[in-house]
Amino acid sequence: AKEKGRDNAQFFTSEMANIVTKKFGFEKEINDALALAQFSLVYQPKVLMEKANILGLEALIRWNHPTKGRISPADFISIAEESNLIIKIDEWVIDQALQQQKAWRDQGLRMVPIAVNLSGRHLVSDSLVSYISQKLEVYNVEGYLLEIEITEGVLLQDIQRCIEVMAELKALDIKISVDDFGTGYSSLSYLKRLPLDVLKIDQSFVEECDSHIEDTKICETIIHLARSLELRIVAEGVETAPQADMLKSLGCEVFQGYYFHKPMEGADIAKLLTVSPVI
Ligand code: C2E
Ligand code: CA
Ligand code: CA
Ligand code: CA
Repeated sequence: AKEKGRDNAQFFTSEMANIVTKKFGFEKEINDALALAQFSLVYQPKVLMEKANILGLEALIRWNHPTKGRISPADFISIAEESNLIIKIDEWVIDQALQQQKAWRDQGLRMVPIAVNLSGRHLVSDSLVSYISQKLEVYNVEGYLLEIEITEGVLLQDIQRCIEVMAELKALDIKISVDDFGTGYSSLSYLKRLPLDVLKIDQSFVEECDSHIEDTKICETIIHLARSLELRIVAEGVETAPQADMLKSLGCEVFQGYYFHKPMEGADIAKLLTVSPVI
């Protein structure tokens, strides 16, 4: 076993060195991207029943890399999450979203909440709530105009701390959604312990909710669960009319997905939130 251990050690020295160099190189690039303003936000509307009834927005990050082109968040968020880099990114997103809200308010647009995706590391950190309340003041934006989306897995890691932080967020009037609901843990006990507002049905269930009875039943069950716990429900990744119709027949009223709106630049969102002049 000792012999083998040494072999492994040798194996790791060369292989790991490569991986570590690559990873640190990537981390440096993410750091530079923040400094060089290579990130931007797009916004995807959430609608009540119909395309025109925009209830809120979700901010989604984009990395416009000078040589690699657009890098998907799926390809860099997980790496950023391995270090405190994710906190820097999350903070940048919060700042950007609130700055956008201020700009829209100054333009006299109809105001709706912007939801940001937060990593678990950041949620339980000491700095989140003070960062947010400071930024709300700087941009003079009310707490209800910011929402938080957090994936299920995160909620069970340190539930006591989650309860504390969420209580402070509630005090700021910030709503909390459980993202990708149904894909994480089998234990649902956290649902009654945490002050949550919204469950987002994961798009993996939505995709075939109109064609596979199992997925229909899962969506139905999640919608009933939300109702009995007095949580609101949002279906995400809705791409077709039959999906939307099925979800409506199951009692879902709020939708997000390409069928209604794709994620858009802030300038295009502004056109949708123009308040028509009173004559
Ligand atoms: P998510 O939070 O579940 O976001 C939904 C993803 O589904 C987004 O992908 C969105 O563009 C995509 N989407 C929306 N409607 C449809 C649809 O009808 N069909 C399909 N197939 N996809 C749809 P995106 O923007 O690539 O983001 C991927 C994931 O990266 C997000 O999943 C989220 O977990 C993470 N992410 C994105 N932006 C941020 C951010 O600012 N901070 C953090 N921490 N994570 C982020
Ligand atoms: Ca999300
Ligand atoms: Ca999601
Ligand atoms: Ca997702």
